[in-house]
Amino acid sequence: MRQYYATHKEKWLGRVKCYREANREKIAERGKQFREDNAELVKARKLVYCQANREKEAARARRWTAVNRERKRQTDKAYYEQHRGDFIARARKRQKSLQGVFTQADILRLYETQHKRCAGCAKPLRGNYEIDHVIPVSKGGSNSPENLELLCRACNRRKHSMMPEEWAARIGKLFV
Ligand SMILES: [Zn+2]
Repeated sequence: MRQYYATHKEKWLGRVKCYREANREKIAERGKQFREDNAELVKARKLVYCQANREKEAARARRWTAVNRERKRQTDKAYYEQHRGDFIARARKRQKSLQGVFTQADILRLYETQHKRCAGCAKPLRGNYEIDHVIPVSKGGSNSPENLELLCRACNRRKHSMMPEEWAARIGKLFV
């Protein structure tokens, strides 16, 4: 039988498929009948399965967040404390060397130029935008209107301090 099955596998599978197709209703009816006859069992099985997995998944997510959040907080804090002076000096220098100013009118003009859409994902901004420096201030970008774009909150979080070409690549845009 095994030998027969091995050599006629295709034929066999085809026949099974044929049977299934021809008897689809019968099979469905049988399944339905089983579920009806064993409603409690089916329900219990499903509940046990869901619960086991839900618990497992939730526990794993909780563990991951707890471990990583705490670890990140600790390393960030330690790093900041160790380099506190540098951070303050850099911020002062940045503030001092920040070139250019923009006005409310510049922002409104930009809003219109961008057709009221996010410069990253093109979603309508509906007045909820964040001002982004195309070339990040931390990398020498100026505060002039020509270095500004309006992003939705999500895009601004994603872009953070990426250079424009890195950001363009990240969101799948060609950079020219
Ligand atoms: Zn966006």
